[in-house]
Amino acid sequence: MTIYDVIVIGSGPAGLTAGVYTARANLKTLLIAGEKWGGQLMLTTLVENFPGFSEGIQGPALMENMRKQAERFGVEVVEKNVTAVDFSRRPFKVSTQDSVLSAQTVIIATGAVTQWLNVPGEQNLIGRGVSSCAPCDAPFFKDKKVIVIGGGDAAMEEAMVLSKFASQVTIVHRRDEFRASKIMQDRVLNSPKIKIKWNTEVKAVLGDTKVTGVQLMTTNDNRMTTYDCDGIFVAIGHKPASEVFKDKIELDEKFYAKREGAKYHTMSNVEGVFVAGDVHDYHFRQAITAAGYGCEAAIEAERWLDDQAGHVHPTAHSHH
Ligand code: NAP
Repeated sequence: MTIYDVIVIGSGPAGLTAGVYTARANLKTLLIAGEKWGGQLMLTTLVENFPGFSEGIQGPALMENMRKQAERFGVEVVEKNVTAVDFSRRPFKVSTQDSVLSAQTVIIATGAVTQWLNVPGEQNLIGRGVSSCAPCDAPFFKDKKVIVIGGGDAAMEEAMVLSKFASQVTIVHRRDEFRASKIMQDRVLNSPKIKIKWNTEVKAVLGDTKVTGVQLMTTNDNRMTTYDCDGIFVAIGHKPASEVFKDKIELDEKFYAKREGAKYHTMSNVEGVFVAGDVHDYHFRQAITAAGYGCEAAIEAERWLDDQAGHVHPTAHSHH
């Protein structure tokens, strides 16, 4: 049976960047991409903030390019989901539905999924007015009317970003108080451009080929109204894709993977298992930061393998 040097789990910017780096370091690399490969960018349209594309690039095209780049250097890609992992001894074992694969190191880059409202109209208007990323999409809503849904820090941050572009930002929150930190709430409450609809739920997203409004319900009297707007930013949380790693590596209380190596800062609590991207990063959540984390994890996996082999790494130990 083949024992890979590296198995990368995940095929978003973090996983594919990790693959480019490990393959170019001559490490035999298998990337388990998931049945739906490519991650969150497959759900977006124009990406304008990924460096190197001066006119922007469509999210799926960007991911195609990254995949081709990884494959060109010899990364083997399988479009399977990981069903189980055994990190109790090396080589590690990673199972898919029909095979058990082995590797000396694993890079976990499974990402996170946006929590959506799951109301009628929402899913088919993603990228056509429905978004989960204000830093990505706010410039498309210059002088337009938008709503932000949620009451946490993410919703406050999305509203602040949007207030620089949109003509009006309305936060729709299901309760009568925010759970966001005081400082973030204060910024929002002091912004002349941001209005708040308390005790209000979004029941449907309206629009045929693009968003035209939402159907709202006030929770104290169950009254339904429509509200016209051009954009809807859903900021009700994210869920890291970490279920399969529960009890295998350390996760935090919200199930984000922990990076906690001392010498190898991208390593999980299990020696030889590295972590990259939105599965551990709830703060930045950008394609470019995920790619950066993937690069870090790949370089550290390579160094760690060298260390196991007893090689001396001049650059790994000294910082000038
Ligand atoms: P969060 O703190 O869990 O807040 C989620 C919000 O969405 C809550 O207000 C919740 O309402 C609402 N919500 C959940 N499900 C909903 C549904 N089905 N329909 C309508 N509303 C719903 O999540 P987050 O804001 O994404 O933040 C996640 C973590 O990242 C937090 O620890 C946060 O502090 C951190 N973060 C920090 C910063 C920063 O410091 N700059 C920025 C972003 C995120 P209820 O309040 O009624 O439950």
